[in-house]
Amino acid sequence: FLSSQSHDLVVIGGGPAGYFAAIKGAQLGFNTACIEKRGKLGGTCLNVGCIPSKALLNNSLMYDQILNDTQKRGIVVDKKNVNLDFDGLMKYKDKVVSQLTGGVEMLFKKYGVTYYKGDGEFLNENEVVVKPVDGLEGTVKENINLQAKNFVIATGSEVTPFPGITIDEERIVSSTGALSLKEVPKRLAIIGAGIIGLEMGSVYNRLGSEVTVMEYQDKIGSSMDDEVAATMSKVLKKQGFNFKTNAKVVSATRSGDVVDFTVENTKTGKQETLQADVLLVAIGRRPYIQGLGAEKIGLEVDESGRLVIDNQYNTKFPHIKVAGDVTFGPMLAHKAEEEGFAAVELFKTGHGHVNYNNIPSVMYTHPEVAWTGKNEKELKRDDINYKVGKFPFIANSRAKTNMDTEGFVKILIDAETERILGAHIVGPNAGEMIAEACLALEYGASAEDIARVCHAHPTLSEAFKEASMAAYSQPINF
Ligand code: FAD
Repeated sequence: FLSSQSHDLVVIGGGPAGYFAAIKGAQLGFNTACIEKRGKLGGTCLNVGCIPSKALLNNSLMYDQILNDTQKRGIVVDKKNVNLDFDGLMKYKDKVVSQLTGGVEMLFKKYGVTYYKGDGEFLNENEVVVKPVDGLEGTVKENINLQAKNFVIATGSEVTPFPGITIDEERIVSSTGALSLKEVPKRLAIIGAGIIGLEMGSVYNRLGSEVTVMEYQDKIGSSMDDEVAATMSKVLKKQGFNFKTNAKVVSATRSGDVVDFTVENTKTGKQETLQADVLLVAIGRRPYIQGLGAEKIGLEVDESGRLVIDNQYNTKFPHIKVAGDVTFGPMLAHKAEEEGFAAVELFKTGHGHVNYNNIPSVMYTHPEVAWTGKNEKELKRDDINYKVGKFPFIANSRAKTNMDTEGFVKILIDAETERILGAHIVGPNAGEMIAEACLALEYGASAEDIARVCHAHPTLSEAFKEASMAAYSQPINF
């Protein structure tokens, strides 16, 4: 017996792309359903990504600052009595995750999105079956066929495996295991100096692990501006990170409670065998379409496993759109959200838009790193004549009062029009400050437009204003 339902819009996947699409769809008047097989809404981001990592980053920073930063501020702390309750730290993280995932479920109720807890698979281009997931509480009791006029595929991504290395999520872990370790490892080795590797490295470095990061490239920070990446390399080394660049991990095996791994220097060919208590594999993520039936209905998949779409998120069927990590572009939650939103607006009104030149990236280390728009390498590659304005936080009064002066704001502007082309920030609260750059870029502001906006004093945001002044003229405080 198969029960069947019909909807105007069915969204497959309840992560940032999917839940934004579903809520927006319901708000626009579609009879909307969302299928999610994880048991919790919010996808990678809320369950095993952005949210748990930021809870650990914030609290580990506070712990580190209480231990190492208080005395010079005139606060006396008896270090012997400062203790880490690792279990408590993890429990708080779990609490935040369940509050936020539960919050999305409440929003579904509020806006009238039907939530199917189960595994979605296309039967044909107009029909999806929701199947029960073994052992999942609250899962659908039987197969339910859903017909719909419109579909959004938002099935996200999964950890990219490292060929030859078996992840057991205990000693050899992905980011998911690293977010739920049972104890602080004495030695943590990380493959990959991208954002996830450096964020998780920061958490455990602050909690007392000896952290070694191995990176295949000759620099850390993947797509970060070179100058920013070089600054962060210095800053993180000062915090205790060991970096091995040009380092190719050849093998890794667990023996009991330790992991032995071999690294080859790609320049010299020299190999060394090292040991860690936990090895984190953080080499990236790949699109996820397992069990979706995408190939069965003839959807195109490229060589990287991404679902192929046109500039209106359409697959070969205009009523099946795709959003988020499972398709092109940076694997970021806010990019996924924007796409989910735009895809549904396109269904409803024929209009919907994401500006791919202005998707901010943030690394939540301390200091934070944030950027949007073009970096210098890209501008040179594209033969664009540009000017640079830089302002260091050491010259910003609020950063001084906060004793948090590492880093700078760098603004890149068109040499002729002085329009802002990119912003790159290393510094306190860079992740918040980048919103100003995004707004400026979106509205085509010039450096002078930004500089002539009155910024409150004393705030970190004055560094943004002064960097803009430096770009077209001169700053005042430096
Ligand atoms: P996902 O969040 O992966 O959601 C897809 C959902 O679809 C999943 O829940 C999955 O169970 C479900 N699904 C898949 N197939 C089916 C099916 N057939 N039937 C039913 N359900 C299905 N991004 C940021 O912007 N900022 C950050 O700070 C940040 N930190 C991160 C930290 C870590 C450790 C990780 C791993 C990622 C982080 N990200 C961050 C990336 C962010 O999590 C992703 O970009 C985002 O979750 C993508 O959203 P999505 O909706 O496309 O996919």
